[in-house]
Amino acid sequence: MDAAGNVAVNGSPAKGAAAASALIFLGTGCSSAVPNAMCLIQPTNPPCHVCHQSMSLPPERNPNYRCNTSLLIDYCSSDGGEHSYILIDVGKTFREQVLRWFTYHKIPRVDSIILTHEHADAVLGLDDIRAVQPHSPINDIDPTPIYLTQHSMDSLAVKFPYLVEKKLKEGQEVRRVTQLDWRIIENDSKKPFVASGLEFVPLPVMHGEDYVSLGFLFGERSKVAYISDVSRFLPVTENYISKSGDHQLDLLILDTLYRKGSHNTHFCFPQSLDAVKKLQPKRVLFIGMTHEFDHHKDNEFLAEWSRREGIQVELAHDGLRIPIDL
Ligand SMILES: [Zn+2]
Ligand SMILES: [Zn+2]
Repeated sequence: MDAAGNVAVNGSPAKGAAAASALIFLGTGCSSAVPNAMCLIQPTNPPCHVCHQSMSLPPERNPNYRCNTSLLIDYCSSDGGEHSYILIDVGKTFREQVLRWFTYHKIPRVDSIILTHEHADAVLGLDDIRAVQPHSPINDIDPTPIYLTQHSMDSLAVKFPYLVEKKLKEGQEVRRVTQLDWRIIENDSKKPFVASGLEFVPLPVMHGEDYVSLGFLFGERSKVAYISDVSRFLPVTENYISKSGDHQLDLLILDTLYRKGSHNTHFCFPQSLDAVKKLQPKRVLFIGMTHEFDHHKDNEFLAEWSRREGIQVELAHDGLRIPIDL
């Protein structure tokens, strides 16, 4: 780790040309985010330590303040060309994440967007994408490509009809709105797609027994899987990203909702750790945590677990930047 908190993956230096790409964790919290509002407006006695602390420190020194899960891939192709900025999910807290982390990590724009699914904590910030697009009162700009399943597309056409329907009705005034170029992807690991020059393999997972969400596998030199919403792995996906199957991952970014027990639509800590043991990736960062997780305390537990199991596992935190050779 260097002084700025950068931690390299796959033996790459934390700074330098070999790892010009980076992953920036814009959000690592659950749908209701952390702090939990009830812990602040109706505090218990004693108060919830995590939520109390999450309000008492500035964000760059505060790993217990968690926005909705979202990852920004700062991708620089091997020939040392331009940087592309690929955003996975645009949740309810997107604007706050831009104000905090786009400024801190000097992210100038969003070049493409990928959606895991259409739940509120993954899509409700889409209206605010216009805030990171060039200004045109008549919407005369290049739309940002957005990759999503047909199921998500159908849902977003209802949630945001004004972002989907381009034609104005007779007499309707032009209003400035987010400009998106909708591109349909499949729930199928055999149907990869390319966003801003980087190939993504969709990883369908169950997110509740009635719902399929997508994770994504990306990276040529380092294999990364991002799985933010999962309650059960489909066998085809499990095989695709396990050491005993098709690909041993250099980095697995995985959902973990509650510290104890289980949940019908998400992995909790016991299931997440079981999945790590099964998949045997080289390194793991957990995301999607509620206020039950205390960053420092639980990372001490995970350091001990990692020594025992021989896999480096930690909780991620908002603002974490990982240089990586993609
Ligand atoms: Zn709390
Ligand atoms: Zn969800």
